[in-house]
Amino acid sequence: MKKQDVLISGKAKTVYSTEDPDKLIMHFRNDTSAFDGEKIEQLDRKGMVNNRVNAFIMQKLEQAGIPTQFEKLLSDDEVLVKRLDMIPVECVVRNIAAGSIVRRLGLDDGMELNPPTFEFFLKNDALHDPMINDFHIRTFGWASDDEVARMKELTFKVNDILSKLFRDAGLLLVDYKLEFGRDKDVVTLGDEFSPDGCRLWDAKTREKLDKDRFRQGLGGVVEAYEEVARRLGVELA
Ligand code: UDP
Repeated sequence: MKKQDVLISGKAKTVYSTEDPDKLIMHFRNDTSAFDGEKIEQLDRKGMVNNRVNAFIMQKLEQAGIPTQFEKLLSDDEVLVKRLDMIPVECVVRNIAAGSIVRRLGLDDGMELNPPTFEFFLKNDALHDPMINDFHIRTFGWASDDEVARMKELTFKVNDILSKLFRDAGLLLVDYKLEFGRDKDVVTLGDEFSPDGCRLWDAKTREKLDKDRFRQGLGGVVEAYEEVARRLGVELA
């Protein structure tokens, strides 16, 4: 399968059309961005690590019954995926308080959230991805009520599967963001799952092994992502 036209060039990935109208190629670049694209850097090996980690996680999720867009790895930094009609909302589940919820609700960083909580955000950098609720999604027609219910169900199912997977690797899955799209009319997990879009802490020391290292200028960003891959047993190039 060969790349044709650039369909979307996002902050960290580029999406290409292919000769098959139902398949796309996603290229994981080394670009790393934070604060709605205000801070951008090139981090050597990051595209490869995220591509490999994403493929590993998507296959685990698929095996556990989550419909995903993953088809197959094409190269170190490219993956073949199903073409989805993307739903413009981000689904976030939080097991431990960190990031924006700490600022918004004045929580103690690191507080356990039991039961885990759920938030929707609108995918819109110009508006800084504002938090939205089910009624906004309905009023503005971003998704149907059934799709909203399904996105929540799948996002929590992913939490059960991945919290355990990371636990077994000595990691705490603090929070994560998922994006879904429609494959015909089947709500399907799209985008990526990598340390760029979740928070992972060492279970013992609570050391950060995710994009917060980049956001907070802690250094060792790709080294931390590689450590996550190593603990999961993901083979790297
Ligand atoms: N997240 C993401 N993309 C976004 C916003 C958030 O991948 O545009 C992820 C982020 O990495 C974290 C979770 O979603 O794992 C919750 O992010 P939060 O709302 O705390 O925002 P932040 O403080 O990271 O801006």
